[in-house]
Amino acid sequence: MKIDIVSVFPEYFEVMNLSLMGKAQAKGLLEIKAHNLRDWTHDVHHSVDDTPVGGGAGMVMKPEVWSECLDELLGFSRPSAATANTDTETATDAVDTSDPGDPAAPNSSALSGTPVLIFPNPSAPLFTQRDATELSHADHLLFGCGRYEGYDARIPDYYRSQGVDVREYSIGDYVLNGGEVAVSVMLEAITRLMPGFMGNPDSIVEESYTGEGALLEHRQYTKPAVWRGISVPEVLLSGNHGKVDRFRRDEALTRTNEIRPDLIEALDCKALDKADRKTLMALGWEVSATHPRKLDR
Ligand code: SAM
Repeated sequence: MKIDIVSVFPEYFEVMNLSLMGKAQAKGLLEIKAHNLRDWTHDVHHSVDDTPVGGGAGMVMKPEVWSECLDELLGFSRPSAATANTDTETATDAVDTSDPGDPAAPNSSALSGTPVLIFPNPSAPLFTQRDATELSHADHLLFGCGRYEGYDARIPDYYRSQGVDVREYSIGDYVLNGGEVAVSVMLEAITRLMPGFMGNPDSIVEESYTGEGALLEHRQYTKPAVWRGISVPEVLLSGNHGKVDRFRRDEALTRTNEIRPDLIEALDCKALDKADRKTLMALGWEVSATHPRKLDR
C-alpha cells in the first residue's frame, strides 16, 4: 500500500518508522511518504493559510496550495484554462456538490487502483473499524492534514467532482490542533488489518468492534495466576475451552451492555445462540425481534 501524507509538519510522521509500521515498511508492505505542503507555495513566506471569508477568528488553509499539491500527488494534469480561472474566482459553480458528504457511497474503483483522498475533520462522520477494514484493501491512500481553523471546504468538494474517492473523518468528539494525530490514528487502525502486517493474523480476528456482531472484547489476563492478591477468573485456568469461550463471550456481552449498549442494539438476533440470549435477557434485553431491545426496568 502506498501512503502519501501532506502536512505542514511532515517530521511528525517519523514515528511511522517505529514498531510494526516500521517493520511493514522494511518488508515492502507499506510505502509511507510525508510531504510538506509548503513545498507547493510560491511566496517568500510559504503561506498556506488566509483569513476566513465572512470574518471570524483564526485562519483557513488556502485551496490553491492544496490543489497544486494534490494535483501532483494524484497524477492530475494541470487544470484546463476554464477550470484554472476558478482557482482565483468563485469556484463553487464549477463544482458538483450533488452528494459530497456521503462516506458510505460505494466507490469500489477507488480501492482497486486509484487513490482514496482522506481529510481528518472533527465535524465529519466518525472513523470506525468498518472504515479501517474497508480502507485496508486500498492500494493508495492520500491524507491531507488540516491546521488552523481547517481547510477551505471547496477542496474535498472539488476532488469529489473530479471523480476522486474523497473521505472526511473525525476520530472523536474533541478538537485537536491539527490532522497529524488523527492521520496517525487512522493509519495505524487501517494498516494493522492488511494481510501480512501482523505476525499472528489471528490476533485481529476477535477484537473489539470487529466483524458482524461486533462487541467490546472480554478482559485479558496473563500470568501469574495471582498478582498482588488478585486472582484471574478461575475458569480461565480450567483448560476447558468450551467454558473459557462461554465465559469470554458473556463478559463481552456484559461489558458491551454497560459501556456501549448501542452495539448490543445493532446485533442481529438471528445470529445469537441460546446462551447469548440467556445472558442478554438477564441483562434486561428482549431478544425476540430483529435486534435486541432494552426493556424498561
Ligand atoms: N475549526 C474546526 C472545527 O471547529 O471543527 C477545528 C479545526 S482543528 C483546530 C484543525 C485541524 O485538525 C482540522 O482541520 C483537522 O484536520 C484536525 N482535527 C482536529 N480535531 C480532529 C478530530 N477530532 N478528528 C479529525 N481531525 C481533527
